[in-house]
Amino acid sequence: MKMGIIGYGGMAGWHRAKIDTIDGLEIAGVWDIDEAAREKAIEKGLTVYQSQEELLSQQDIELILVATPNDVHCSIAVAAMRAGKHVVCEKPVAMSSQELAEMWNVSKETGRFFTVHQNRRWDEDFLTVKKILDEHTLGDVYRIESRVHGSRGIPGDWRGQKEYGGGMVLDWGVHLLDQIMLLKEGTPLTHVYSWLTNVTNQDVDDGFTTMLTFADGLQVLVEVGTSNFANLPRWYVLGDNGTAILNDFKPRGEIVRAQGMNETDIVPVQTAAGLTKTMAPRRDDTIFHEELPKVESDVRDFYNNVMDVIENGAEPIVKLPQVMKVMKLMEMIFESARTGEAIACDL
Ligand code: NAD
Repeated sequence: MKMGIIGYGGMAGWHRAKIDTIDGLEIAGVWDIDEAAREKAIEKGLTVYQSQEELLSQQDIELILVATPNDVHCSIAVAAMRAGKHVVCEKPVAMSSQELAEMWNVSKETGRFFTVHQNRRWDEDFLTVKKILDEHTLGDVYRIESRVHGSRGIPGDWRGQKEYGGGMVLDWGVHLLDQIMLLKEGTPLTHVYSWLTNVTNQDVDDGFTTMLTFADGLQVLVEVGTSNFANLPRWYVLGDNGTAILNDFKPRGEIVRAQGMNETDIVPVQTAAGLTKTMAPRRDDTIFHEELPKVESDVRDFYNNVMDVIENGAEPIVKLPQVMKVMKLMEMIFESARTGEAIACDL
């Protein structure tokens, strides 16, 4: 299958390197509005077209990757589908749920497959948490905390500008929220409460915290920070029969369980204000450390699935109803942060 790329920047380079290792898929050419980016593509031995229209008029190109900044995803994806191409769009799919609705309608109208590159569904940290939940390893899970922390502020490119769809909710939030909504697929989200941060940038959010409540009572905290000089763990998952801690993306971490609820199972702590037993650490012999379960993942399955959908009518992995839910959730995060109120929903 021949694919064209529109927008040949950092992420398109990642796609090119991956696609080089995928059987049955090849890059036929690229278009970018920036001359330096076009030259980079030529250096990599790629065909560069003179315009978006020229690329979209190539009969042998079946699939288009949209890898531009977020503000032009919608117009480019729509033009590509109207030119008869299937489309993979980078995340976040669009600037709003309204734009996504337009893209979805054009996909239905033209019969072209349209999906979104939610590649962090293949991250091992996420798949480890998914396995822990699927296998009920921690008993009933009552709280999940998912965080990514950086310390260099928001990048200085278009990500810092609202008109291009910058900001960390759209940039990283979209991945973390997609992961949570997948973990809870089938259970409605009922409440959203959020804060944004503007530490290094006033135009867009350079981080956020959101607290989500699901209909089964599960509480979820999702946080993206870019001025965090000491990181909290990537995941912290609490069940009534254990706690999982995943410190990083690798993931390094452990499952911790405990035995015994008596006062004799702890080592009382004497603080200046008095003795505490409730918040005291356990005796070593009442606490058990287990390894995290192992998972395997190959992010190339994203493109293998795209080809399978187009050629054989397979079920897409990244489905538009899922993408729409995350888009609406991001809109609620902005709304909650703006009003300072929790938003009740049924998502
Ligand atoms: P980038 O700035 O490195 O590259 C964007 C390129 O698009 C630039 O070369 C620019 O000249 C070009 N461009 C801008 N407008 C265009 C237009 N109208 N037509 C053709 N080309 C145009 O940005 P990036 O980091 O590569 O991000 C691109 C997209 O990929 C964004 O949507 C971003 O959110 C997404 N992304 C996804 C991941 C992921 O893990 N899935 C990671 C990074 C970026």
